[in-house]
Amino acid sequence: MDCIFCRIISGDLPAKKIFEDERVLAFEDLNPKAPTHLLLIPREHIAGLAEAEAQHDALLGYLQRIAAQLAQERGLTGGYRTVLNVGPDAGQSVFHLHVHLLGGRAMSWPPG
Ligand code: AMP
Repeated sequence: MDCIFCRIISGDLPAKKIFEDERVLAFEDLNPKAPTHLLLIPREHIAGLAEAEAQHDALLGYLQRIAAQLAQERGLTGGYRTVLNVGPDAGQSVFHLHVHLLGGRAMSWPPG
């Protein structure tokens, strides 16, 4: 298995897990870009948003809703950002779909 996020799901690689259920896992990003930087991933291996299919519609919405739930639990009352990097121009480096949840500081727009 050469997908690092699949290895985190299987327990083969350690991660600081924040939330898990039968569909989704959330853990701390190894190289945080904000005071809160979590990654939310589906247990099912999907390479990225570009590879998602209609059968994943509910899962994609669920990832976002769990992100909102975790943001609330983290007390991110000032706001936060959820991000999916898709492909090389966006800097996607891990090819297992993941939602970044970033918060705890002000963020500029447009993103770099
Ligand atoms: P992206 O550039 O959107 O593909 O984001 C991949 C993210 O995964 C980056 O923010 C990395 O810091 C993070 N990352 C890579 N390996 C690990 C790991 N083993 N545990 C936690 N986060 C990781």
